Amino acid sequence: MTKRKSSVLLIYTGGTIGMKQDIHDQTLKPFDFSQILDEVPELGKFAMKIDSFTFDPPIDSSDVEPGFWLKIAGIIKENYDIYDGFVILHGTDTMAYSASALSFMLDGLAKPVVFTGSQLPIGVPRTDGKENLISAVEIASAKDASGHAIVPEVCIYFNSKLMRGNRATKVSSENFAAFSSPNYPLLAEVGINIRYNTDAIRKPRDWYQPVTVAGRLDTRVSILKMHPGITPEVVRYFLCAPETRAVIIETYGSGNAPSAAWFLDIVKEASALGKILVNVTQCLAGTVDMDIYAGGKAMSRAGVISGHDSTTESALAKLFYLMGRSDDNEWVKDVMQRNLKGEISD
Ligand code: ASP
Repeated sequence: MTKRKSSVLLIYTGGTIGMKQDIHDQTLKPFDFSQILDEVPELGKFAMKIDSFTFDPPIDSSDVEPGFWLKIAGIIKENYDIYDGFVILHGTDTMAYSASALSFMLDGLAKPVVFTGSQLPIGVPRTDGKENLISAVEIASAKDASGHAIVPEVCIYFNSKLMRGNRATKVSSENFAAFSSPNYPLLAEVGINIRYNTDAIRKPRDWYQPVTVAGRLDTRVSILKMHPGITPEVVRYFLCAPETRAVIIETYGSGNAPSAAWFLDIVKEASALGKILVNVTQCLAGTVDMDIYAGGKAMSRAGVISGHDSTTESALAKLFYLMGRSDDNEWVKDVMQRNLKGEISD
């Protein structure tokens, strides 16, 4: 029996990888996808079928909205049976949000969905876009001896490193090493060979189940970053606003916040209003543990739940997804603390 050729769908959403300098105002603007492919003739050397889908117009990822995630998820669902893997070319600025969101929205995923982009446009001589794109395509098509995808996850490939999407965060606006996965090991490292960290890669419960897509996201979430000098007025505005159902509180260290009575009184007030309050640390690495210090314990007693070692991007996407699934805030609080897609450590 002849082996079927692998196939990958490239979904081009925009971002620096496909931008060039506008001759009039010198800013970077997206250009046509066929021009990107012309810049990477190496893709033609792969013995695989590579098709593409272009968002019209391609966008700077600062313009990404949750409706955009629904569109990407819909394209993956429509083409799921046709391709072995998907590569999403996306701006780096909000890539960690989009990868986190897709990790929750695509249920039953048994194929790779690899986000990548670049710090320099693909047309410039020192671009990082070519290597990122070529390796992302190879990873998206990689299969093991039994014919299953080696990385059946939503992930981010950048600068020789493959990271779980909902564990990654953008750490540099300048270096080629733009992303980091501070609380979870790399899924693969690329050198002469691609070294997969198979123990760290999630496998689906059932390789052959159909993928399902979340059809609704509830975006009534805000993020409050704690800082010395924050006032009761600002904290109350965030925690008790009628427009929000949930607030991510970015706290200090292992989940600490001021011990002042006014702060805890507002947290209790928000809890009594039924708000979902999630504690995520401002630190790049490490976890929230509300049992270590009195401030954390008091917040926990006042109804704040732990975001554990979640990134802020992942906590936000998970809230959108869970709140879209249920109007029951107690259920959302309960499931928020469970590991759904490898986004928090057990
Ligand atoms: N502003 C760009 C974007 O996120 C930056 C990039 O792609 O690196 O779309």
